[in-house]
This record gives sequence, structure tokens and C-alpha cells, in this order.
Amino acid sequence: MEKKEFKSESKRLMDLMVHSIYTNKEIFLRELISNASDAIDKVYYKTLTDKDKNFNKDDYYIRIHPDKDNRTLTISDTGIGMTEKELEENLGIIAKSGSNDFKSEQEMEEGFDIIGKFGVGFYSSFMVSDKVEVETKSIDEEQAYLWVSEGADGYTIEPGELKSHGSKITLYIKENTEDNNYDEYLEPYHIQNLVEKYSNYIRYPIKMVTEKSRVKEETKDNENPEYETYLEDDILNSMVPIWRKNANELTDEDYNNFYQEKRYGYDAPLAHIHLNVEGMMSYKAILYIPGQPPFDYYTRDYEKGLELYSNGVLIMDKCGELLPDYFSFVKGVVDSEDLSLNISREMLQQDKQLRLISRKIDSRISEELKKMLANDREKYEEFFKAFGNQLKVGTYDKWGQNKDKLQDFLLFYSSKEGNFVTLKEYVERMPEDQKYIYFASGSSVEHIEKLPQVSIVKNKNYEILYLTENIDEFVFQTIGQYGEKDFRSVSSDNLGLEAPEENEEEENKEATEVDEKLLEKMKEIIGDEVVKVKTTGHLKDDLVYLSTEGDLSIEMEKTLNSMPQ
Ligand code: ADP
Ligand code: MG
Repeated sequence: MEKKEFKSESKRLMDLMVHSIYTNKEIFLRELISNASDAIDKVYYKTLTDKDKNFNKDDYYIRIHPDKDNRTLTISDTGIGMTEKELEENLGIIAKSGSNDFKSEQEMEEGFDIIGKFGVGFYSSFMVSDKVEVETKSIDEEQAYLWVSEGADGYTIEPGELKSHGSKITLYIKENTEDNNYDEYLEPYHIQNLVEKYSNYIRYPIKMVTEKSRVKEETKDNENPEYETYLEDDILNSMVPIWRKNANELTDEDYNNFYQEKRYGYDAPLAHIHLNVEGMMSYKAILYIPGQPPFDYYTRDYEKGLELYSNGVLIMDKCGELLPDYFSFVKGVVDSEDLSLNISREMLQQDKQLRLISRKIDSRISEELKKMLANDREKYEEFFKAFGNQLKVGTYDKWGQNKDKLQDFLLFYSSKEGNFVTLKEYVERMPEDQKYIYFASGSSVEHIEKLPQVSIVKNKNYEILYLTENIDEFVFQTIGQYGEKDFRSVSSDNLGLEAPEENEEEENKEATEVDEKLLEKMKEIIGDEVVKVKTTGHLKDDLVYLSTEGDLSIEMEKTLNSMPQ
């Protein structure tokens, strides 16, 4: 039989798994169970949208079978299964977009991070196995297939035996080493613990065959009844979705586990919101504000959205209509009994009910962020580091229609605080004689501090906001005014400062009478690089500075000039 090679990235990832020093190996079980659950969701959905098919709840489950004698752990499901082509595509290549990005050897060595960034899904099974078999039969094909791999050097595919649709993943568990106890993955009680920890809310029963003993029927009246062992399925998970539970029954750890189990992210969420709305439109939701942006967050590949369930049935895994763009980082799930199951994507877009939910979600996230900003500044700054740019884009996006709502969520670096402040904080402590909200742009705080114009404004004891992101000035332009104060770049030629008191007259006179020629000469030498050369009474320690005549700062002009026309 021909052995096929993994695509190169998969091979690397596989290598990493096989030789993994990652301590949290047990997550492989969560990954396989979640794949099994996804596969059943797909059948479920198919039967709901296809009149000829029925979904009989009892037929759908996940079964785990630890077999000590053969050192195998089998996870089977009655899900949608895979065709030969799907096997090849799904298990021969890493499905995740973005995984191509980790090419450098260094990144490979920092395997831990890769797991954190991308999640590893199916491949994680190689952290605990010498060999993995996937036997699967697609719901759309008669023939089953068997995929076998012993690690990075490749895999084979041959016809398999399964008669009904679903998949059966058999792991040949590694022998114990000094550092790793692999035997535990063959222990029923350990499996039980892992399922409770990571997969308790999976909506399908996760069964495990366990050996039990009972009195033999024919000896039950004897003085010394005989016992016999028999096999029975135990259901390991509670199956009640977390969002159906009462918030006061749940701990932060429950919410965090759900976040992990759902693979919303591999970080720890900063906050969660549990919604239970009754009324014209009843629904429950759990929303998370993640701690870290996903690896593809600031790229075009990122797709916003919440999982949408209709009474416990997944109908969409990324319903974008539920989230405004400026909160696109939010993860979570919405479940409503009042949504029809058969809604297609097109219909969803127009769904009034959905708009109702999304408006509520929008306002609850805003509330949560406001609360965080007011009560836990450190956490809010962490949040802002991760997602502040999205909020900034939100203020000028869509013709600035959301600026009033979003402007108070923004933080900018302050010359006075040496830390981040809100516009509100800035304006509230402005001295009475200060006319403008001053800002200075540059590539870094250190760079900005060196600008001569900065010291001019600082000498007046005015606070300056340091803008280090290209988009910051767009944000100010869109906001226009805050608290009836205009924004003003320190490189503007009209800083609105009171002229310095001492020697003002003299200086100006000198400039007009004596230096006129010198200034002309300077302009001649510099040429068209500048519009004008003039004197100023504002400088103290520096000799010259560049300023602009219009509203734009020099940095902004640079940005605009560097943009494709
Ligand atoms: P992900 O689940 O994030 O897509 P995985 O590596 O876990 O990534 O799985 C890769 C793909 O393999 C899945 O997207 C799915 O198409 C397929 N797959 C894995 N396990 C199963 C299964 N038990 N039944 C059907 N398809 C599966
Ligand atoms: Mg997966």
C-alpha cells in the first residue's frame, strides 16, 4: 500500500506532537470529543434541513472505550463521517488557516505557543499515541475507509469495514516514560474526570462501557449467590448546556472551561456575560471578552460571529449579524427557542428577531466594558491593548456614526500620566486657559518626547496625548471635538498659546527688521521642502522645529502620502 506524505506544515506539526514536551497532553481527548460532536451536529443539521431524513436522538452519541489489554483508547461517533477525499483533505493537511504562518524553526521549538495560537485539533492525538487509526464512513457514501498513521512520516488509506455512518478513532497509547504516565488514559476513572473537566456540556451523550458486576439471576435465591460481570454504558457528561444553567450555580472556572472547550480561544477570557432574556423574544446567551486577539484577528481572514442555536440545535457557528464590527472580538453562543430551525443565511440577515438580540448584545457588551473601565483599570488596559485598535477603527468606520458611543472607550498615552487616559479624564482636568486638546504623533513615545513642539506645550503645563498608531489621527478627525474642545496637533503653526510674556515685543521686532533677510536665505536653501520659514517666541531649549499650516500633523501627512492613491 502506498504511503502518502503529509503536507509540509502538517508534517512539522505532527513532529511537534510526537516529540511534544507540552505538559497538557490530556487536551487531546477534548479535541477528539469536540470533533465527534461537530460531526454529529452536521448530521443533525442535515436531517433538519432535509425532509427525507429523520433525526432519532437515541442514534447519536459518542463512545469512549479504553482497552488496557490492547493499550488502545477508542473514540467513536455516529456523526457525518468522511469520504475518502475528505479524509485526505482534513487529516492530511492542517485545516486551520494561518497555520502556514509558523514556518520558522524558532517557532517550531516554541511548540507551546503554536498550541496556544492555533489549537491542534486532531493532531494532538499523537501526543499520547504511537499510532492512530481513523475508520470512517460518510453519510453520503457506501464505502468506509481506514486512515492509519504512525506519525510524521506519512499515512495510508484503505477500505474499511464500518457499516453505518460515523467515525472511530483508535489511539495506540504510548508506553509510560519517566516523565509521562500514559497509562492513565486507559483508566476509566481518569477518562471520566477528563470528560467532566473539558466536555461536560457536549450536547450528545458521551458513553463509556464499564465493567460492572451483579448477582447471577439463577443463583439469587442461593445462600451464597454467585456474581457475574457484565458491560454497561455509563453516560459521562451532564449534557445540560451551560447557558441553560443559572448564573449563580456557575463559577468562573465553569465559564472558562466552556470557553476552552468551545475553542473560542486558548487564552483566558477577561470577562463573561450571561444573558437570560424572557419576553417577546426569549433567548439565552453567554458572551466572552477574550484576553488575547486570535492570531488572525487583524487580518481579512478573521470572521466575526457568535454560535447560534435554535433551542439547543446549532444552526450557525458564526452568525455575524449578532455582533457589530467594533465588537467583533466577542465570542460566545446565543440560543433561542423562538428562532425557526430552517433559517438560511440569507433569511438570517433580514431577521428582525435577530436584530433585536444583536441590539441587546451590543448594549450589554458596552455596559460590561464601561464597568471594567471604571472598576478594574488594569484589566481594561489589558483589554485595550488587545482590542483597542478595533474600537478606534469603529469610531471612524461607517462614516463615524458610532463615534459618540465609542469615543469614551478609547485610551491614549498621556504626557502627564506616563500612562493611558480617556478623553474624558483629559478634558476634565484641563486648566481653564487651555483652548485645545493637544496631541503629538510619532512612531514611539520616546520619539515624540524629543519633538521640540512637545516641550513648548509641556512648558505651558498642558497635557499632551501621544499618538503612536497611524489610525489615531483619523480617530481625532472623526471625533472632531470632545467636550466642546477641538483637537490640535503640537506641530500646528497655531497652537493657541498665549504669547510668552518677556521680551515679546522686542523679539518680534527683531524678527521683522533684522532677520527678514536671514529667513529668506534659509527658505532659499531649504527650497520646496518647506512653505515658509519664520521665527517664534515659544522655543526654549530647541533652536528649530517643523510645523504644519493645515489641520494635519506631519505624521499624518506622511501616512496619507504613503497610502496608495
Ligand atoms: P478543526 O476541528 O478545528 O477543524 P481538527 O484538526 O480537529 O480541526 O479536525 C480537522 C477536520 O477533520 C475537521 O474539521 C473535520 O472536517 C474532520 N474531522 C475530524 N474528526 C472528525 C470526526 N470524528 N468526524 C468527521 N470529521 C472529522
Ligand atoms: Mg477539532
